[in-house]
Amino acid sequence: MLIRNLVGSEWRAPEGAATLPVFNPATAEVIAHVPLTDAAGVDAVVRAAADAFAAWSRTAVMDRVRLMFRFKFLLEEHLEELAALVTRHHGKTLDEARGEVRRGIEVVDFACGAPTLLQGRTLRDVSAGVDQDLYRYPVGVCAGVPPFNFPVMIPLWMFPLAVVAGNTFVLKPSDRTPLGGVRLAELFLEAGFPAGVLNIVHGASETVDALLAHPLVSAISFVGSAPVARHVYTAAAASGKRVQALGGAKNHIVVMPDADPEIAVPAILNSAFGNAGERCLSGSVAVAVGKAADTLLDPLRDAASKMVVGPGDEKDVQVGPLIRAEHRDRVASYVEAGVSEGAELVVDGRPLISRRGFFLGPTILDRVTPTMTVGREEIFGPVLSVSRAADLDEAIAQANASALGNMATIFTQSGRAGREFRERVEAGMTGINVPIAQPFAFFPFSGWKGSFYGDLHVHGTDGIDFYTRKKVVVTRW
Ligand code: NAD
Repeated sequence: MLIRNLVGSEWRAPEGAATLPVFNPATAEVIAHVPLTDAAGVDAVVRAAADAFAAWSRTAVMDRVRLMFRFKFLLEEHLEELAALVTRHHGKTLDEARGEVRRGIEVVDFACGAPTLLQGRTLRDVSAGVDQDLYRYPVGVCAGVPPFNFPVMIPLWMFPLAVVAGNTFVLKPSDRTPLGGVRLAELFLEAGFPAGVLNIVHGASETVDALLAHPLVSAISFVGSAPVARHVYTAAAASGKRVQALGGAKNHIVVMPDADPEIAVPAILNSAFGNAGERCLSGSVAVAVGKAADTLLDPLRDAASKMVVGPGDEKDVQVGPLIRAEHRDRVASYVEAGVSEGAELVVDGRPLISRRGFFLGPTILDRVTPTMTVGREEIFGPVLSVSRAADLDEAIAQANASALGNMATIFTQSGRAGREFRERVEAGMTGINVPIAQPFAFFPFSGWKGSFYGDLHVHGTDGIDFYTRKKVVVTRW
């Protein structure tokens, strides 16, 4: 099956485009082909969005919201089907996929609040007989470039808020998981949105570069790896566009000696191995403070070695496959690097590589230091590093040594330690006694340092600010 672009109301294969295979990572079977759209193909899609902008941006807010409610209803109705689609071409377990779709729908719920969110403000009598009013306007054609790891949720971080604010949108789904975006667009059309409000263009780096250079694209939302986020940020800014570019992560889970292992251990397993570690909020390094190592390592080893690895649609499976064979091999090479730099291999998931599909079992490396490759770089797979710290100060210093600052979380029974951590850790999403500090849709997804380039984050009121421009009117009668 060749996947098509959505150009206005028409599903169209770009002419003469090369293609890439899309796999079922649990079986290594090719299930579709995705076209790599060139600059001319991108131009056709952007023009369809630009043509729809004048009418859509003048459509009454209440009419836009009514369509958004219908879209939300269709997403709820198709939740199981969307989750199965995510599992089929991403690999995560069905439960994880359901969670992904649910979190995506929450952004649509938030977008349904547009009549409140899009309000401006006013100050009468700013000087004698003079009033000032602030209005919000859409910015034009917006484009979204999501990563492979949340094929439904991350597109939903982007286009619902953009279109409810009166913009039209071009979505470039991940070339590795393009089917989620396609199904969302079908449901979006079924909800009754006019042609051209949401368009889809498939491809990889060349397609993204054509969007970054296109004069009719006003704003770019990007989520992906740190180097590409930086490239997108600089290229989009150089061509005068608004940009929010979310990058990679290296997240630390600090475990204080007073933490209850019965809470901390399952939380660490969930954080490190959920979604097979392919999450920007995955806990990558567990920092055991003082005696915490004594109570953590044995239960972590026992539980991780018993986790059920297999196809995400099979009952009781806890860890699905990785996205591609090359990515799995890259993750495995980090395990080798860890061992050769002096880390201690506590659980080795590499024997599962011989299975059909792109599997790697949960792996734990102990005595990792912040200067080792595995202590510094994002691995993006089911590999947990354990490091040791003498006290909270040293643990915070380890977390803050990272060039990335997406998430950090602490397990403790001490309010003082929790507060100290919150105040001093340099991560934009901070957790206290939670495995994954994911903000709900009405808060921003607020990575720091190399995990984010831009000013306004995705979703929350930041999302509304990103997708609107403000006009201030000064009036004297
Ligand atoms: P990626 O950077 O390889 O790809 C992201 C998107 O950019 C895809 O749509 C891809 O087609 C496109 N792309 C790839 N290379 C490009 C290039 N050279 N120029 C222009 N576009 C390019 O990322 P991925 O492997 O799909 O996703 C995993 C990464 O995303 C991890 O680093 C993860 O931490 C990060 N991520 C971050 C967040 C966050 O909120 N900060 C959320 C999810 C994933």
